[in-house]
Amino acid sequence: MNEKFNFLDEEIEHLKSENRLIKLHILESEQAPVATIDGKKVVNLTSNNYLNLTTHPKVKQAAIQAIEEYGIGTAAVRTIIGTMTMHEELERRLAQFKGTEAAMLTQSGFTANTATCQSLMTSPQDVLISDELNHASIIDGGRLAKAQKKVYRHSDMAHLKEILESDEVKHARRKLLVTDGVFSMDGDICNLPDIVDLCDKHGVITMIDDAHASGVLGEHGHGTVEHFKMQGKVDIQIGTLSKAFAAVGGYVAGPQKLRDYMISTARPFLFSSSQPPSVIATCLAGLDVIENEPERLKKLWDNTRYFKEALTKAGFDTGHSQTPVTPVMVGDSAKAQELSRRLFEEGVFALAIVFPTVARGKERLRTIVTAGHTREDLEFAVEKFVKVGREMGLVK
Ligand code: PMP
Repeated sequence: MNEKFNFLDEEIEHLKSENRLIKLHILESEQAPVATIDGKKVVNLTSNNYLNLTTHPKVKQAAIQAIEEYGIGTAAVRTIIGTMTMHEELERRLAQFKGTEAAMLTQSGFTANTATCQSLMTSPQDVLISDELNHASIIDGGRLAKAQKKVYRHSDMAHLKEILESDEVKHARRKLLVTDGVFSMDGDICNLPDIVDLCDKHGVITMIDDAHASGVLGEHGHGTVEHFKMQGKVDIQIGTLSKAFAAVGGYVAGPQKLRDYMISTARPFLFSSSQPPSVIATCLAGLDVIENEPERLKKLWDNTRYFKEALTKAGFDTGHSQTPVTPVMVGDSAKAQELSRRLFEEGVFALAIVFPTVARGKERLRTIVTAGHTREDLEFAVEKFVKVGREMGLVK
């Protein structure tokens, strides 16, 4: 027994008392629309595998071929000898995908956000403006940045305007606004036209985190900017390669000079090793699939519309979601957890999100459909939601 860690007993008890002690669920099959989780075959409504690329034969083949040709890893950071031709090729392709001059890869979407905030916001005379529901990586980016932080109420444009007109922002040296494109817990889309309009008036750089929008929003899946037809109007776009792209990694897309600067200053880029060839090849193949198989995006949205409508018709409250992230509002931690547990028994996996991850009264199940779900999978899931919902008195 190592007594040096006894202090953790109390910490763990505290986490338990706040419903924050996590027990990991184990995926025992591939990440698929119907998967084996914790020993049971279930309809899986929890992954971010929007376009069902995890198992796409061409994407898998690209990874295998890259391993055969280039081995399993780079064993170096990008700035030493961890940059292969394919890393730069992927950066060019991602810049094209996002309609920007350049892009810079990072090891995750998380570090793309922290690196950008930290690299650009280097003085207390700078100001970082953030939506209150932004992702944890943006919050941590703010902690690493030396700037003052200003947080506006979720998508509240009057509050944002008030902040932008404040003396502190007016007199700041550098100004950066960061917003999620799609908010990850509620599935709503940021008010990009008003945000850009306000920021342009006040000389504020705009940065959008498109983790849940890339491959999902817009006619070609290019993200929130394409959704609003605002190509060229947003200064920095952050993306992840771990959701629709189904691999791992992130990127910062924007002006060439931003890339030039960040490859010399972004700490995760400088001090953490680059992605292995298999991952890069997977993402290149994923871009080809997104381009050449538009039917996946269509199916994702057909499934999204069907599932949302069916749940709403059955009497469930799906909040303000406009995307495949669909919350099923319950409003009570114990009930949300019970709903999740009973759905699992019935063969449907949907996780409960409870206080303090979301505010009290906003406890919910968070569901995500993918392009890979069949209509039968979704009908089955809805049938079980209705059955358990009725038994628990959540719907009539
Ligand atoms: N931003 C948002 C909005 C996210 O939901 C996530 C993933 N949870 C990230 C960033 C981080 O992305 P990654 O998993 O690639 O680190």
